[in-house]
Amino acid sequence: MSHLFLRTLRDDPADAEVASHKLLVRAGYVRRIAPGVYSWLPLGLKVLRQVERVVREEMNGIGAQEISLPALLPRDPYETTNRWTEYGPGLFRLQDRKGGDYLLGPTHEEMFALTVKGEYNSYKDFPVTLYQIQTKYRDEERPRAGILRGREFVMKDSYSFDLTDEGLTQSYQAHRDAYERIFARLGVKYVIVSATSGAMGGSASEEFLAESDAGEDTYVRCLESGYAANVEAVETLAPQAIPFDGLPGAVVHDTPDTPTIESLVTAAAQILGREVTAAETLKNILVKVRQPGGDWELLGIGIPGDREVDDKRLEASLEPAEVELLGDADFTANPFLVKGYIGPKALLDNGVRYLVDPRVVDGTSWITGADESGKHVFGLVAGRDFTPDGTIEAAEVRDGDPSPDGAGALVSARGIEIGHVFQLGRKYTDAFAVDVLGENGKPVRPTMGSYGVGVSRLVAVIAEQQHDDKGLRWPAEVAPFGVHLVIANKDDAAREGAEGLAADLDKAGVEVLLDDRKASPGVKFKDSELLGVPLVVVVGRGWAEGNVELRDRFTGESREVPVASALDEILAAVRG
Ligand code: ATP
Ligand code: MG
Repeated sequence: MSHLFLRTLRDDPADAEVASHKLLVRAGYVRRIAPGVYSWLPLGLKVLRQVERVVREEMNGIGAQEISLPALLPRDPYETTNRWTEYGPGLFRLQDRKGGDYLLGPTHEEMFALTVKGEYNSYKDFPVTLYQIQTKYRDEERPRAGILRGREFVMKDSYSFDLTDEGLTQSYQAHRDAYERIFARLGVKYVIVSATSGAMGGSASEEFLAESDAGEDTYVRCLESGYAANVEAVETLAPQAIPFDGLPGAVVHDTPDTPTIESLVTAAAQILGREVTAAETLKNILVKVRQPGGDWELLGIGIPGDREVDDKRLEASLEPAEVELLGDADFTANPFLVKGYIGPKALLDNGVRYLVDPRVVDGTSWITGADESGKHVFGLVAGRDFTPDGTIEAAEVRDGDPSPDGAGALVSARGIEIGHVFQLGRKYTDAFAVDVLGENGKPVRPTMGSYGVGVSRLVAVIAEQQHDDKGLRWPAEVAPFGVHLVIANKDDAAREGAEGLAADLDKAGVEVLLDDRKASPGVKFKDSELLGVPLVVVVGRGWAEGNVELRDRFTGESREVPVASALDEILAAVRG
């Protein structure tokens, strides 16, 4: 440590909110260069390499072959799939000196499809799975929590190529199994949830979420059936349609000064002479939506008044289109939109696309805006009085909501996405006409899977799940060193003994971090807790009596062992 390029910090960085970010900076593992852009210092780089090693071993284990593609990529292939446009502001675009357009790769489906097309041309070559562990670039809107959400980050991305759907299912399953092994080895607590397929396109898709309150993803589970999904992917259990016969006609009532659901519920109770709940009202939210390369268009969204719009669900439902709230200028330009009193009628009459929550089935009756200030319509029946253009999953999912499989209630928790497995299908092989000679002499088109692991993110995730109030606590599999040997005795003999022990451990294949600094034992112990090597060995006061101390960073337990058996005891502890 007297030579190690390391400075630990006493104070948390000012910009850090989550524990892993604070600790990785304080312990000198990473340093910030720009928002979402970080340097790896020696200890951090060692942990990153350990995570890479585990990922690489498990990928090789399923027969995937490692290659490495550039991060700097030409525009053309991404133009072919329209992702140059679709990726929107998340893509780093740049030009070379000749004005040629380039991008920094956010994910590499295009390049892998082209790479396989370039080399393979017969059914005999398949199936094949390729992967890389490589630096990715995404101009994230909100880079966050240090390396947890970077704009430059390390991802393992793999791509499977099969000739049949059954083959794809097998490749997908092999990856899913490999991911389970990876995260178990890394000691990460996680859940597998159904996911939406987002900007990649494709069908079957699942996410691995590390359980953490610091996570940006919310997932729900049904404890009865085992159903688990990212809230973005939850499909609302729609009620049965109700027959129209006998339903009273719609009536417009004066409801002065009721622009909010709360005020409307109070007014409606007075008018109807009974209790009214927010769930009986239909609130209409206006947004504007822009398809990639298109113009902004208005979109009306009708959801039961007792629910809020969940922005992430809304965005996931509309992807790859962008969504924004309406500004004052938009209301001025569209005078039929009466703020606080918007109803389905004005939207449909004026050609505004109108999508409703799946609970708004035919025959449901609503209290909603009458498109005039201070007026609402009561008993407006879906399917009879208005016909929406379709449904949209935009309303929040709540604890206690019925599970989509009807088996019980949903409970929610937060997580951090650490891996994602997709069955892409032929979207990319179609785009590049990747055809190979089939068994019967006719061309066949491979079907693809795409699979990602957040390698650099995992360093933060492990830190997030494993730290305590004193510092980091690495599982042995990813720890930067096997043993942290602290010299806490000024005696020359003790120092020599410690160096001898370090050399013996080194010879036995254990990487040792030797704290040989001229600092007080207190400072050294604090640093050892902050750095988080799983086993701390102290050559201290006990040395005179022929003892060294072994401290387990995980359990906090410590014990004295005789110097003579120290090497064996340490090796046993390290090799567990
Ligand atoms: P997120 O929803 O967190 O933005 P994503 O769904 O866009 O992630 P994928 O395209 O599925 O991510 O990428 C595969 C993996 O790469 C993710 O599961 C995640 O672990 C990791 N990853 C994605 N974006 C980042 C980022 N900005 N910083 C660090 N790791 C990331
Ligand atoms: Mg994902």
